[in-house]
Amino acid sequence: MPSYTQTTRLIIPVLSTTLLALTPATSSASGEVNVYSARKEALIAPALDAFARQYRVNVNLVTGDADQLLNRLKAEGDASPADIFITVDAGRLFRAKEAGVLRTVQTDELDKAVPSHLRDPDGYWYGLSQRARIIFYNRVKVDASELSTYEDLSAAKWKGRLCTRSSSNIYNQSLVASMIAAKGEANTLAWIQGFVSNLSRPPFGGDTDLLKAVSVGVCDVTLANSYYYGRLGQSDLADERAIYDQVALFWPNQSIGERGAHVNVSGIAMTASASNTRNARRLIEFLTSEQSQTWYAQANTEYPVLESVAFPNSLAPFGAFKADTLPLKSLGENNRLAVELMNKGGWK
Ligand code: FE
Repeated sequence: MPSYTQTTRLIIPVLSTTLLALTPATSSASGEVNVYSARKEALIAPALDAFARQYRVNVNLVTGDADQLLNRLKAEGDASPADIFITVDAGRLFRAKEAGVLRTVQTDELDKAVPSHLRDPDGYWYGLSQRARIIFYNRVKVDASELSTYEDLSAAKWKGRLCTRSSSNIYNQSLVASMIAAKGEANTLAWIQGFVSNLSRPPFGGDTDLLKAVSVGVCDVTLANSYYYGRLGQSDLADERAIYDQVALFWPNQSIGERGAHVNVSGIAMTASASNTRNARRLIEFLTSEQSQTWYAQANTEYPVLESVAFPNSLAPFGAFKADTLPLKSLGENNRLAVELMNKGGWK
């Protein structure tokens, strides 16, 4: 692991924000690049460190909560020192574009590297890793043959058997946004109403809490992002491994004619305020290169966005799957309606 130096540069008082400077190996650095990242240090710093060494560029990293960092970019405006914004969920990347804090970096190379549905069509943001939001079930209480699609979770046979996190969470909003795109507004509202009526208790917790709830029988089935399950499987802690062992993963909507599992991304963008544009562009190209993609996906048990890069070994037990290829910008475009339908359908 590379070592980092705490620094006072770039400090702007925002709670829960940490700052690291990743310094290149030689003193003849060719400038710098300033990164605001909603990804935790451990999931991004080693890749940034590799970039710093390869290009002899000073990389300054600020990490923080996704929504706080976006608000900070908005508040700082043109005066923001940030050149790069890294965050999770296409819904958030869309919000950042709408807020006017990003600029396009479209190049033929980037457009060739990142599949079109995993990036903004105007080049304002690019996916860096993929995660699937899928079904997880208790191995003892559910037979996999009972499961099929997201839509089926509104069926009466699941009464009292489901749990979920709240509708304020963007992951669920994006899942609902994808259903609106596939099935339309009326069908999606009906699905929400059925899904909510099947809950064993009101929405609670984060994805890991829900996987735990399934493992101990609070409910039989939940929805969660694939990497939370992957993390539990990789854990050194016996109680986390026990959750993994009790719970199984199910890929929904895989049959012929079905759209596939809902996927989302972590992504990267150049800020509108960027002054180190050359290094910022290089960093985006670096993180979407084959060299970086393997590590980046592995670091959080995610799937690479580059089709040429193999899945990390840790994901092998989950098998191959068909992913929904809905352009992820639709998750942003449908977000407002998704939230409205969740409110209307009683998803707390
Ligand atoms: Fe997450």
